[in-house]
Amino acid sequence: LLADDGSVAATIFAEMSALAARTGAINLGQGFPDEDGPAEVLEAARQAIADGVNQYPPGIGMPVLREAIAAHQRHWYGIELDPEREVLVTAGATEALAATLLALVDTGDEVVTFEPFYDAYGALTARAGGIHRTVPLRFPDFRPDTDELRAAVTDRTRVIIVNSPHNPTGAVFDRTTLELVVELAARHDAIIVTDEVYEHLAFGAAHVPVSSLAGAFDRTVSISSGGKTFSTTGWKIGWATGPARLIEQVLAVKQFLTYVNGAPFQPAIATGLSLPDDRFALLADTLRSKRDLLVTGLRHAGFELSVPDTGYFVVADAAAVGHPDGEAFCRRLPELAGVVAVPMTALVHPDRREPYRSLVRFAYCKRVDVLEEASARLARLG
Ligand code: PMP
Ligand code: GLN
Repeated sequence: LLADDGSVAATIFAEMSALAARTGAINLGQGFPDEDGPAEVLEAARQAIADGVNQYPPGIGMPVLREAIAAHQRHWYGIELDPEREVLVTAGATEALAATLLALVDTGDEVVTFEPFYDAYGALTARAGGIHRTVPLRFPDFRPDTDELRAAVTDRTRVIIVNSPHNPTGAVFDRTTLELVVELAARHDAIIVTDEVYEHLAFGAAHVPVSSLAGAFDRTVSISSGGKTFSTTGWKIGWATGPARLIEQVLAVKQFLTYVNGAPFQPAIATGLSLPDDRFALLADTLRSKRDLLVTGLRHAGFELSVPDTGYFVVADAAAVGHPDGEAFCRRLPELAGVVAVPMTALVHPDRREPYRSLVRFAYCKRVDVLEEASARLARLG
């Protein structure tokens, strides 16, 4: 959590955005869109501010949003939630993850994640005093090995974090893998925490929430957020849903982290969650064409790739363009090509970097002209 000199270490995402700002390079590092999402969602926030929705909302979130989250879970996944007791609004998925792990994990408890992993899982596990165990996902298909998953979960496991659709790999875990997670959690009495922030940005098979599987709901805290779906990453409206007994524990921590958050953005995200299905499909289709654009550009430049099924990112092997050290490559990429990317080694445990050494993550949640320019620049690498 702290750098060697005791200062606060910047996250890899902040570091790479700063590098882009400093060098003027195209920022395909940190995952945030450079265009606004649905106009109704933006307008609803303006309207809420104009209507005076500017003071502390209720600690568990405004009723309009809790009801919209419950309706969304029922409509898309057939999950029934009591919006009074089983839905909690948080400051982004990040706060939901923080409050959940701080609530559930005690010193020495084990937390299992797949690897590479979103940086917050490792940092929050350490902050809670837990021990982080991982199940590797290997380039280029990034499917977990079921024996390795079985071996990682034991009676010491308190939490299994399932991030599907997965950042950074763009993998979607199949139903069999998710069912195995539920089976292992039941056998070892662990809690499942899901991170589903890319739930609406899948390009192939429909998203399957773990809590919709048989036997899962009672031991699962499901986490998502409006930031990715509606291109409002700066609003930080997220949520945790699940059985009241678990959600109460998450609320107990949340109320002294942020207490409440984002009053005028809550009804706006409720508006977004209530949009017709075809609008969600359009969001995914638009992103898919951006994926295809950058995938074509990276292939043309000579990279080997794992084509993602979902999300904001594509993972490329820089060894194929003569750069076996992904960290060094990312540091030099602004100068080599005027582009910024994130080294995959930043998203794995320091002791397990070797298999990921030459891999880098590029974000394609950017305007078409930006992706075209980035592709043209990367083509000059060779
Ligand atoms: N989980 C994953 C996998 C993410 O990629 C992100 C966003 N970068 C988050 C959580 C954080 O979401 P939020 O911005 O809603 O806190
Ligand atoms: N989730 C985004 C990413 O993976 C950024 C999040 C952050 O900056 N912490 O790039």
